[in-house]
Amino acid sequence: MRRLSILGSTGSIGKQTLEVVRKAPSDFTVEALTCGSDIDALYDQIVEFRPKVCSVVDDKKAKELSPRLKDAGISTEVLSGKDGNIACATLESSDTVVGAIVGFAGLEPVYHAVLSGKDIALANKETLVAGGDIIMPLIREKGVMMLPIDSEHSAIWQCLKGEKREDLDRILITASGGPFRGMKRSELENVTVQDALHHPTWNMGGKITIDSATMMNKGLEIIEAHHLYGIECSRIDVVVHPQSVIHSMIRMKDGSVLAQMGKPSMVLPIEVALYYPDRGPAIVKEFDPFEAGLSNITFEPCDTEVFRLVKLAYEAGSRGGLVPTVMNAANESAVMAFLAGRIGFLDIEKTVFETVEKMESGISGMDLTLEAVCQTDKDARIYADEIINGKIKV
Ligand code: NAD
Ligand code: MG
Repeated sequence: MRRLSILGSTGSIGKQTLEVVRKAPSDFTVEALTCGSDIDALYDQIVEFRPKVCSVVDDKKAKELSPRLKDAGISTEVLSGKDGNIACATLESSDTVVGAIVGFAGLEPVYHAVLSGKDIALANKETLVAGGDIIMPLIREKGVMMLPIDSEHSAIWQCLKGEKREDLDRILITASGGPFRGMKRSELENVTVQDALHHPTWNMGGKITIDSATMMNKGLEIIEAHHLYGIECSRIDVVVHPQSVIHSMIRMKDGSVLAQMGKPSMVLPIEVALYYPDRGPAIVKEFDPFEAGLSNITFEPCDTEVFRLVKLAYEAGSRGGLVPTVMNAANESAVMAFLAGRIGFLDIEKTVFETVEKMESGISGMDLTLEAVCQTDKDARIYADEIINGKIKV
């Protein structure tokens, strides 16, 4: 039985994690739930799963939630702010923390969870992109498990089971290609937020959906795989596979390629992580190659001249240190500005490139500590926001 603290329980991954728990309630207890501000969704989850503690980042919303729970006769303690998230991540009664917060905000709670000896089931890829060099050594030092939830990394992990790491030649990370696959640069100039939010195969939160449209999601995943599997970024290839049936592949040194297949649903990778090293019950309807209705499965290279953020992510991941921290922070700021209608689609990429270019010399040689990572994230956001403010459409 796993005793869970679910950070970001009201989001897409958080809700699907609770779907797994709902289907197999005797295999889990829910100890803590956290969210940013959606207290209506959190209230319903608390009524159903009765955690000991919950936390809401937004202080005012937390104060609204407390009396509602009291009136309903529910004793769940309500915490708030960043500290509330960390308290839920380090709760004595939980043994596993599900990292389902979006963005850099997920890093500190996960860091503290590892420090306090929890296993981590991680969806929040930005944690590894921005701070993989501090998180992964800590995981090894504390002897806890890092259980990947991101579907590609779950696929790679499942393929690697039983294989010797030195026999791995390359990782072939698959990508749907997003809504703008096949487009030219000129066609990307005027795409709208609505166009970018229309993902062809996956239903996900807003930030990752935009990252899929710019293909930065694949860039982040290359760096995530580098940290999880200790392999250089140059040995990770992106394979565009629009049908999203194969969730990633590995090539062994003898040339054999192993792949993991399934429906495009995050429930299965979440389940694989939470039941490791066992296998759980069938929760999603199993993939049936005859029912899938696919007349062919196709593979294409990723056009990094059109989707330039992928190229930048390769460079940032290879250079390591705080370069990916800067890239991630600038990307988060730019994606939020795009979603708010403040900048155009290609301005996301320009903001990220300019921020990395401006900050790279200042961060080289800095010690890699949690404080340095957090400070660099802050500085990069300030710089990215300055670029964004200069580009506001009036
Ligand atoms: P989402 O936006 O749907 O949900 C995010 C959750 O985090 C919500 O509960 C929200 O309240 C909470 N949150 C937001 N800002 C916060 C903050 N500052 N502090 C604390 N909590 C905060 O996002 P999602 O799509 O579920 O993605 C979560 C993470 O999982 C992301 O890192 C994403 O890249 C990764 N991921 C998602 C999917 C998917 O299918 N959705 C697939 C693979 C990986
Ligand atoms: Mg993924």
